[in-house]
Amino acid sequence: MEIIMIIVLKPSATPEEIQLFTDKLSSDYDVRINRWDGVHSTVLGLIGDTHTVDIEYIDAQDIVESVKRVQEPYKKANRKFHPENTVVKISDSVSIGDGSLHIMAGPCSVESEEQIVEIAKSVKKSGATLLRGGAFKPRTSPYAFQGLKSEGLDLLKIARKETGLPIVTEIMRTEHIDMFENVDIIQVGARNMQNFDLLRELGRTKKPVLLKRGLSATIEEWLMSAEYIMAGGNDNVILCERGIRTYETYTRNTLDVSAIPIVKKLSHLPVVVDPSHASGKSWLVEPLAMAAVAAGADGLIIEVHNDPPHALSDGAQSLTPEQFDAVSKKIFALKNALNVDT
Ligand code: PEP
Ligand code: MN
Repeated sequence: MEIIMIIVLKPSATPEEIQLFTDKLSSDYDVRINRWDGVHSTVLGLIGDTHTVDIEYIDAQDIVESVKRVQEPYKKANRKFHPENTVVKISDSVSIGDGSLHIMAGPCSVESEEQIVEIAKSVKKSGATLLRGGAFKPRTSPYAFQGLKSEGLDLLKIARKETGLPIVTEIMRTEHIDMFENVDIIQVGARNMQNFDLLRELGRTKKPVLLKRGLSATIEEWLMSAEYIMAGGNDNVILCERGIRTYETYTRNTLDVSAIPIVKKLSHLPVVVDPSHASGKSWLVEPLAMAAVAAGADGLIIEVHNDPPHALSDGAQSLTPEQFDAVSKKIFALKNALNVDT
């Protein structure tokens, strides 16, 4: 047990008020309290279980001057309580987080059977171990292509049957969970990272969940979203850094490379990186993918389309199958070089 929170009381707090307050804290929460009385103020140190304590309640009390958490608010996702890396097993040959590198490749949107099967075959040949494609698409404009929806899911399953590649696709609504029963990894998109109802429901399943970082989410908020899924009993969470909003407009988002080692330090969950949505530009996918692998990513998501200029979504950031083949070779060469003991 460690100190989890420090509470500084106001100099005006009377011994009776302090006693009442500490009695209330020990009855409401599963904590022990250490108390230090200074000349002008009193400091309380709370020792116990991180996730039980409501910091806002404490901050709202009249006798409290300030309160500071000294331990992360997430528990199940925290490496402190689970030192070994989590490995998420997807199939007999695909385990994410085991030290190998997995590329999830495919079109932003599933458009037709021919398209998804052709792309699946070509990315498999180039080394991708998972097929990713969107059936339900969260689009900024309501007038843009919204995806083939359940038909798209069926087409992904056809492509899986043809290639043996496990499939990854995005869920947008809690009501759709049953429809995703047969999907190998359920993606929660950036816009849904804080859809807590959806996270909770996914926590009740045992399905691997790919949790994308929200557009403006801090690392702690992202890990708290993982905690929602894990709190329900589903430990199969894979985090995905996909770029965050910054003041830079040259790229679609800004890839936060530092998030990779930071999340790996704070959490035991695997981290994959999406250089396609991070950059919005196909020519930037290779350097960002290389940077992500060098920084320790367990996998990559790369958008690949057989005809990018005519893609129904995200054509500008999509690689052709030939470009993907070249990028993939470089990525695996880098991964091998990193694995060589020096
Ligand atoms: C996607 O992966 O196709 C997507 C919409 O990404 P994000 O949620 O990261 O914007
Ligand atoms: Mn996309």
